[in-house]
Amino acid sequence: MSDCLFCKIVSGDIPSSKVYEDENVFAFNDISPMAKNHWLFIHKEHTKNANEMANENPEHLLDIFKAISVVTSDHGVVENGYRVITNCGPDAGQTVFHTHFHVLSGEKLAGFGAK
Ligand code: 5GP
Ligand code: ZN
Repeated sequence: MSDCLFCKIVSGDIPSSKVYEDENVFAFNDISPMAKNHWLFIHKEHTKNANEMANENPEHLLDIFKAISVVTSDHGVVENGYRVITNCGPDAGQTVFHTHFHVLSGEKLAGFGAK
């Protein structure tokens, strides 16, 4: 999609701080981090949100979660843990309409049942 911010990050037209790339998946630091580590994982093929991805390209979910497993392992955060969030649609506050998974780690995370 030519007018999509994250497609432009994949193509390199907009710079990003890359943390991972393979043939399918691209991951980079969120520009406005909500935790010590705040990475965004996206598929190189555009879909608008996780619901559309699950219906149209469910194999992309596997690509994403395998990449998350690799990066969290490489950064040594698997044992202490990490959180995966995807905002799907307006009530969730989705602002960028290229499916992305926030991965937060590196500190004790508040909210979502954490004590
Ligand atoms: P959403 O609110 O759609 O779940 O998440 C969009 C995320 O993209 C936000 O956390 C925001 O900080 C991040 N973001 C927006 N624009 C850019 C950008 O140009 N570069 C990077 N690295 N992150 C961005
Ligand atoms: Zn896109």
